[in-house]
Amino acid sequence: DHALNDADPEVHDIIRKEKDRQFKSLELIASENFTSRAVMEAVGSCLTNKYSEGLPGKRYYGGNEHIDELETLCQQRALAAFHLDGNKWGVNVQPLSGSPANFEVYTAILKPHDRIMGLDLPHGGHLSHGLMTPKRRVSGTSIYFESMPYRLDESTGLVDYDMLEKTATLFRPKLIIAGASAYPRDFDYPHMRKIADSVGAFLMMDMAHISGLVAASVVGDPFDYCDVVTTTTHKSLRGPRGGMIFCVDLESAINNAVFPGLQGGPHNHTIGGLAVCLKHAQSPAFKTYQKQVISNCRALAKRLGELGYRLVSGGSDNHLVLVDLRPMGIDGARVEKILDLASITLNKNSVPGDKSALVPGGIRIGSPAMTTRGFKQSEFMATAELIHEGVQISLEAKSLASGPKLQDFLKFVASPEFPLQDKLSELKKRVE
Ligand code: PLP
Repeated sequence: DHALNDADPEVHDIIRKEKDRQFKSLELIASENFTSRAVMEAVGSCLTNKYSEGLPGKRYYGGNEHIDELETLCQQRALAAFHLDGNKWGVNVQPLSGSPANFEVYTAILKPHDRIMGLDLPHGGHLSHGLMTPKRRVSGTSIYFESMPYRLDESTGLVDYDMLEKTATLFRPKLIIAGASAYPRDFDYPHMRKIADSVGAFLMMDMAHISGLVAASVVGDPFDYCDVVTTTTHKSLRGPRGGMIFCVDLESAINNAVFPGLQGGPHNHTIGGLAVCLKHAQSPAFKTYQKQVISNCRALAKRLGELGYRLVSGGSDNHLVLVDLRPMGIDGARVEKILDLASITLNKNSVPGDKSALVPGGIRIGSPAMTTRGFKQSEFMATAELIHEGVQISLEAKSLASGPKLQDFLKFVASPEFPLQDKLSELKKRVE
């Protein structure tokens, strides 16, 4: 039995390079984080070897006494981390990730072609909430269910609850989904509950992005108002890649949808890592971390505002900001590329009013990962300034590129004669 280094130097080397990239870059992707050594140890353990289809005490394979203990512990910790009464709430910790968790909920509580309403993807929603374009049904959710996305009020950047209510009254969805991938504000759960009740719909919150913030009680609590809450476990919660589903009264339908409905054997190594993460999520240090995530994001938003940037909704209540670059005369795709070359990792993002998803007008910037790395407000202010320098380089490169298309820009930036190379290298050196 060999160590990876000996058994497969090729993969070992790729991992080494990725580790180096993660270590050196400013990691600002809002959905990413650095999980702990203890979580990684559990994820890289012998738990990966075991088949355990079913639930604790009801398995289809032998040899599961320790796995039963692990999954039960993970469930108990999940309920405790989110301050839930186990007599009321159930949890399934087996979903392989966020998108499967969502589809498992739909499978459990809807019939094919039932109607659903989630936030539109160009306005911050997630594919798995039912993305539709005028030309095609993009996600499995919109193929198997009838989706009518709700949207933001473009003048405020906030969810247009009045329009959601009007549309829901006409469309009569069976399910309304709160939660987003790129929304810097809290959802108004009482209002959404009222709308859902008025049309007889279930209310689900996909808290994937903010589950760490919810566990630390530094944002609104969806559990007070929702029938179902889903989450990924690897974003602000800082665990391994996975998913969870919490529910009231729907436990057996949801458990059946997870297995045998859509999954086979649980990933027990992930459940092990998740249990470790959920223990940490109950500690005072975790609460301090999540408070810092929010303070850091506010500092970033403030400095970006001072530098003249327009933020969608004017600021942030959570871990991310959405910057509308259009008033600067540049787009998210070009800025993402230039920042990537300077070891600043973030992503281009649609902003309300955008025409193109490939060359969207904004960037999304998140604070969880660098807060884990120890950044405080002053470092996030400095980060805003580094981003600003990257935007200036992007603008200069855009004006010098041979043509107006993104392809012209990318070719220009990649060419050996790129005249801004020195500036870019200097920025990269400071970042690293
Ligand atoms: N839900 C939301 C709100 C997300 O932002 C994401 C991913 O970014 C997901 C679900 C999907 O999670 P996964 O990528 O684990 O399938």
